[in-house]
Amino acid sequence: MVKPKVAFFGMTSCKGCYFQLLLANEKLPHVLENIDVTDFWMLNEEPKGDCYDIAFIDGAVSNHENAELVREVREKAKYVIAFGTCACLGGIPALRNPDEKKHNAYHKMVYGKEIAIKSYPHADPVHKHIHVDYKMFGCPISEREVVEVVRDMLLGKKPREPDYPVCVECKKNGTRCLFKDGVPCMGPVTNAGCDAPCPASRTACDGCRGPLDDGNWAEEAKLLEGHGIDKKHIAFMFSKYTGEKVEK
Ligand code: SF4
Ligand code: SF4
Repeated sequence: MVKPKVAFFGMTSCKGCYFQLLLANEKLPHVLENIDVTDFWMLNEEPKGDCYDIAFIDGAVSNHENAELVREVREKAKYVIAFGTCACLGGIPALRNPDEKKHNAYHKMVYGKEIAIKSYPHADPVHKHIHVDYKMFGCPISEREVVEVVRDMLLGKKPREPDYPVCVECKKNGTRCLFKDGVPCMGPVTNAGCDAPCPASRTACDGCRGPLDDGNWAEEAKLLEGHGIDKKHIAFMFSKYTGEKVEK
């Protein structure tokens, strides 16, 4: 049997999603037995295969090399998966986006002089450059989701894409709402799919799976203000993983 070719590429990120994947290796053997991993970012940065059935791309597009890489991978891959919140939304590299005009000033602050760094002043999600077939949110990703998505794609099934907030998963799991204990939480406006591990361990959801398309932002802002958070910090909480101001 010819095994499907699966490749993993990396761009600008902390690589936490790849460490999460490596940590999940004991849950992956039944997946690994059935695929041919042709490229793995930590072993080879440049694509070496001619074609892929599934290509995972981690990280934000932050420089010319990243933009070239995603175009090349798109040309060679049947399915492209944006792997982790940096790839899906810009994530942590996009924290710099609201201050893109200060890009050079920040370089000077960090390096002591103006130097030519070849990064873009703006970090983009992968879908701004190429078509993406599936977005796997999370900072970092959930290993359970990797297993499910690879399995579904190999079976020719469309992986599930939850269109509801993290709160639904708290309800399903019987987790007591943190707001009831006076802890402000981003769950009501955050994409589900992680199974709400943070509230289950009594830590607020930080919004790492990104903003829910039809989230009630006005109501969430009121709730957060009612818990003593000022407007400036609320604006930061809403834009933390996208670098974009939420206009809802
Ligand atoms: S703890 Fe957070 S995510 Fe869970 S139900 Fe409450 S607001 Fe929603
Ligand atoms: S509960 Fe929120 S912060 Fe925690 S993993 Fe899920 S989306 Fe991310």
